[in-house]
Amino acid sequence: MMGIELTVRPYQRRFIKPLYTAHGLWIWREGLLIRLRDSLGRVGYGEVAPIPWFGSEAVEQAQAFCAARGGEWRSEPVPDGLPATQFGFGCALEDLYRKEGQGDAAIADQEPAIADLCGLLPAGQAALGIVSQRLSQGYSTLKWKIGVFPFEQEMRWLQALWAQIPPATRLRLDANGGLDLAQAEQWLAVCDGINQRARSATIEHLEQPLPPDQVEAMAKLGQRYRTAIALDESVATLAQLETCWAQGWRGVVVVKPAIAGPPQRLQAFCLAHRPRLVFSSVFETPVGRRAALALAGRCACAPTLAPGPALGFGTQGCFDDDWDTLTPTELWNQV
Ligand SMILES: [Mg+2]
Repeated sequence: MMGIELTVRPYQRRFIKPLYTAHGLWIWREGLLIRLRDSLGRVGYGEVAPIPWFGSEAVEQAQAFCAARGGEWRSEPVPDGLPATQFGFGCALEDLYRKEGQGDAAIADQEPAIADLCGLLPAGQAALGIVSQRLSQGYSTLKWKIGVFPFEQEMRWLQALWAQIPPATRLRLDANGGLDLAQAEQWLAVCDGINQRARSATIEHLEQPLPPDQVEAMAKLGQRYRTAIALDESVATLAQLETCWAQGWRGVVVVKPAIAGPPQRLQAFCLAHRPRLVFSSVFETPVGRRAALALAGRCACAPTLAPGPALGFGTQGCFDDDWDTLTPTELWNQV
């Protein structure tokens, strides 16, 4: 009996505007597309889109794992140290078997409406020049990075931002773990003040105010202020999410499915514990994006009273290519 053929294609995409990260400027997004093909000729696509400075493996490690398979997939488990690779193979296998008896076109396009996505604002003053464009595109949830410039400056820009956004807008502030305790308190006091105003836009949450290992301190902050705190860098992988949960964190958690680990395990965790989730992109191609959005939908499938938080997938149009318009098969043929 023939096994499953594995083919790997590395890709590189250039950001139109390089992104600020804790690691410096992010200019090229690198990853792998993988294709599994069984003896009947059926194919399944998956994507490995690591962010090494966010707790995942490096793309070279994923590549080495794939190369060691020798072009054949024998269903060995992917090691826990390779969470983005776990996601990629988990999705490729799902894709392979879901397509049974279906064509590519039969797979529903799960692209959500803009209003269900969180739009990105550039850090600093640049946000002021782009916010009206984001609103006219249809976003009502926006994200702005803070802790990049001095507090007083960011305060002035925040006030100016408030003059431009309608009351229904929700703003996420993302500190990327860059604040100290005193600065986090300062920001949370400001957020609470804003959130008490009538007929005003609101701060939905302050994301990762403190460094990743300070979960306990963030839990304490969460008890002292009314504005929600979301963990992001602290819960980069499912293993970390499970640890934080076991330690008692019940606040918001940002989940990036593409670097979290096996999709089936993430889904099982979400359905078992019902954490307050915000799903987020890691700037995947359409292959990883479709899989991550489908997973987000499955994790949120229980009836809820209110609409869920916007998906952190307002990341299209960030690259200097047309890949966002391609189907997985078209993309595979192009890279
Ligand atoms: Mg974040």
